[in-house]
Amino acid sequence: MLEVRNLSKKFGNNVVLDDVSFCVGREEFICLLGESGSGKSTIAELLIGLHEPCQGEIRWAEDSINCTQYVYQNPDRSFNPFWSMEQSLLEPLLLQKHSKKAALKKITSMMDHAGLPVELLKNKPSQCSGGQKQRMAIIRALLCNPRLLIADEITSALDPQTERTIIELLKEFQSSYHMSVLYITHRIQAIEGVADRVLVLDKGSIVESGTADEVLKYPRHPYTKNLLEACM
Ligand code: ATP
Ligand code: MG
Repeated sequence: MLEVRNLSKKFGNNVVLDDVSFCVGREEFICLLGESGSGKSTIAELLIGLHEPCQGEIRWAEDSINCTQYVYQNPDRSFNPFWSMEQSLLEPLLLQKHSKKAALKKITSMMDHAGLPVELLKNKPSQCSGGQKQRMAIIRALLCNPRLLIADEITSALDPQTERTIIELLKEFQSSYHMSVLYITHRIQAIEGVADRVLVLDKGSIVESGTADEVLKYPRHPYTKNLLEACM
């Protein structure tokens, strides 16, 4: 559904991405792994058109081009701070002309599935915990019917237990909503058993890619081995 070819990006003289190529297939859960500053968010921002590449191209399947949702590391970026969670979650469905009653039914059933009490709908973002907000941000993104969901370090501010719950929830939603996920993280251990494929980014270049098993169990590149050893 998406093919990235020979993508390069400089900010001034700083080469941030160098000849990056990869594909995202339909209904694939792909993990983009790399240390801080390796260029992960820059790839995501190029995909959503926030920057222009210096070289290379991004090719989308026709039915997917405008159907990408971005979930940020900071969940506050997904919500209007002055609105209740109910207003923020209703907005995409009311724009799609759902009745308020039908929209609320859909929202509460997704919240239930995500283990969130419906009473949270009355709260402003500042009255929810980080993990609750991140689950709500995923639900809000799903209500926009994405073909691709980009999750950029969405769990890095959370404890490992909550992180795992959120990744597993995302995996479940990914298969029931038939979408692809690009899951960006620097925490290699977080994606075990969830990702279909892993891309490893080091200083703006993809140094290794393969199935999650190949990359996590039999890493070939020293950078990937270091990432794995660092989390033992
Ligand atoms: P992290 O894990 O810390 O989020 P990252 O892998 O997402 O890191 P990027 O945010 O893509 O890294 O940044 C890669 C490099 O590009 C960094 O050196 C950063 O300073 C630089 N960079 C990113 N965005 C810009 C920008 N808009 N203008 C100038 N330089 C930028
Ligand atoms: Mg980043």
